[in-house]
Amino acid sequence: MKKIITIFMAAVITVSAAWLALRPDVRFIATAAVESAFASEKLPEKTGITARKYTLDELSEREDVEFNDDLILVNTSHTLENTYIPTLVDYKETGILLTENFSEAFTKLNTETKNSCGEGLYFSSGYRSFAEQEQVYSEEGSDTAQLPGASEHMTGLAADVYVNGFAGKSIIKSPTGRYVNNNCCKFGFVIRYPFGKKSVTGISYEPWHLRYVGLPHSEIITKNGLTLEEYVDLFEYGEWYSYGEYVISRQQGDELFVPETFSECSISPDNCGGYFVTAHR
Ligand SMILES: [Zn+2]
Repeated sequence: MKKIITIFMAAVITVSAAWLALRPDVRFIATAAVESAFASEKLPEKTGITARKYTLDELSEREDVEFNDDLILVNTSHTLENTYIPTLVDYKETGILLTENFSEAFTKLNTETKNSCGEGLYFSSGYRSFAEQEQVYSEEGSDTAQLPGASEHMTGLAADVYVNGFAGKSIIKSPTGRYVNNNCCKFGFVIRYPFGKKSVTGISYEPWHLRYVGLPHSEIITKNGLTLEEYVDLFEYGEWYSYGEYVISRQQGDELFVPETFSECSISPDNCGGYFVTAHR
């Protein structure tokens, strides 16, 4: 009896191993899910800094402070008005519209991808206006499309990408797609809808949907296995947090604190009624 159980167990292990070996995408998802569940990189820690208070008008006049929307949270609970129109650029004159920060970071990501994998990424979708999203929603329905106002594509900070011959979920069947999923956080991007997080994001696994959030946020989110929803919630309003060479603060009101000294500083609304101030020391 003992021998039969041993043989049976060995067979199960062999079949599972062979199956994982034959399906690199399944193996990739399994590895990513395990890594995400046990991810415990250092989170930003509360810190005290010398900061000064400015009105939003004063800050918008400062040339050393960048205003962007990089950290806005967009989902069915935090939607955008149909009047929301981001400032966009035409990515390398492809007709794909994205924010400037997305475009610049994507150029770097794609260059590294080409150098490492011998091929780059293509876009299937970038910015979509409220009206275009309305049309997508009416054509595809709620199974695959987001309600107008709840789609990240309206921000110009999100794009759907594919690798030659591997679109949609099959992107991770290609080594290039897996490389991009593993490395995009170095350039400010996150896989916005990770595997196993539908209960948080409301959206199933989308290894093709890149969202730009900027550094160091993309690295903190990815290395800790978080979603943007969970990340935004980490920060108590009014506190300062340090992470590597960065300090981050989430604040509310028409007056915001900004560090007295910094090399770079950016401010983004969170689409929850507050702002993120991110400064590189
Ligand atoms: Zn998408």
